[in-house]
Amino acid sequence: MDHWGGVNGVVGEDDVRSGKIPVIAPDRFMEYAVAENVTAGNAMLRRAQYQFGHFLPKGERGHIDCGLGKAMPTGSVGLIPPTDLIKATGESRVIDGVRIEFQMAPESEAPAEFHMILPEFNTVNMAENATHCFHNLLPFRGAVVRDAHAWSKYLNEALELCGERAKVLIGQHHWPVWGNGRVKSYLETQRDLYKYVHDQTVRLMNQGLTAAQIAEQLELPETIACQWHARGYYGDIRHNAKAIYQRYLSWYDANPANLDPLPPVAAGRKYVEYIGGAAAALSRAREDFRRGEYRWVAQVMSHAVFADPQNAEARDLLANAFEQLGYLAEAATWRNAYLFGAYELRHGVPQLPGRAPLSSDIVRALTVEQIFDYLAVHLSGSKAAGKKIVVNWHFHRRATELRAQPRKLRLELRREQGDQRRGCGSEPQPPDARRDLYRENQLPGSDRGRTGFDRWERRQIPRAFYIIRRPPSDVRNRRAQEG
Ligand SMILES: [Zn+2]
Repeated sequence: MDHWGGVNGVVGEDDVRSGKIPVIAPDRFMEYAVAENVTAGNAMLRRAQYQFGHFLPKGERGHIDCGLGKAMPTGSVGLIPPTDLIKATGESRVIDGVRIEFQMAPESEAPAEFHMILPEFNTVNMAENATHCFHNLLPFRGAVVRDAHAWSKYLNEALELCGERAKVLIGQHHWPVWGNGRVKSYLETQRDLYKYVHDQTVRLMNQGLTAAQIAEQLELPETIACQWHARGYYGDIRHNAKAIYQRYLSWYDANPANLDPLPPVAAGRKYVEYIGGAAAALSRAREDFRRGEYRWVAQVMSHAVFADPQNAEARDLLANAFEQLGYLAEAATWRNAYLFGAYELRHGVPQLPGRAPLSSDIVRALTVEQIFDYLAVHLSGSKAAGKKIVVNWHFHRRATELRAQPRKLRLELRREQGDQRRGCGSEPQPPDARRDLYRENQLPGSDRGRTGFDRWERRQIPRAFYIIRRPPSDVRNRRAQEG
């Protein structure tokens, strides 16, 4: 949420509501902000701990940085819905006397993204599409795979739009590039970087290579690899090649042995049994560790730890291998993932205080449909078996308008789905509960809680929300236990 979570630090909501300050964003910003960070947010938070390593001790054997920046921001996450959407390249706005021309770049570093050209200042802001490192096409925290091919085309289009006039290039996270010659060469190399890795990955996959095989052999040409800003400090080329493969051909490598393999615990037990027991596996793995075969040691010891999480020697050797892999990594994200894996093996999973699944600011910025969608993905299929609960929600703009025509939505909860229907004006089926809300009052599930429910509703509505399980405040310990 590095790109919008800090909105409350620069603008007050009252000024946005009154129209004094517009909030300008790329088209479909809200849908994607929700899709990337709300729907899968709980799992992403846990996975982000590996990508960013923020629980690692700082230092030469621990956390150094995140590849793209020094650390993840902490604190509250704010969100104010945009009031002015930019939909096409060539649109422009004058803000406080400064003219800004926009170039749309959807499906690049973010699903909704644009570049900004400030012609009077000969300046281009490339957002996060031309950073001083190879960016991630698929961050560890999880995301929909980004489109490397489109990304390179936007960089080429930016060169056409402002390559001759831009004397300063700025962007997110990193320092500026000064001088027209350097701006041009920087953009050209960045464009070639994304295009080369995309095209070569696709070429090799069409020759029948799998993602792992492509990642093993793909290398950047010397002309690109020798540029500091093309190095994989954030997105490693091997990781990015796998992301491109996944975008076109899915996670499946077309080897039927990998179509439905045993999950980690069951597979780990079988592997260890076939090797001849944990002691035999440890003895062989220690020899390989001495030879520097850390990748293999990590693979084998991972099986041993899944087979028996209490095996202290296996945990220790796996942690040793992870640490060596972390020290060898150029990408800070890889280093963080390995070192945090080692940290958890040695110290256990950090125990964190619970947190609200969504900040009240985010809940208030969401549409009712988005909130219902969020509830639906937390409906427990087994608890909902045989139940059908209907709640009619009547939304009013303000408490004073309670008697005016409300917006009506019907929420049906069944095993198959948490369904939402619009316009239940005729209300053909009697609901189990009806709730009048005004927007500031909000739905249960927000951390503003169950404000304003009367006694009758407190009996009825929990029936519905019993089958919607709030996700755990983090998914601690689940990885090791369930694989
Ligand atoms: Zn960013």
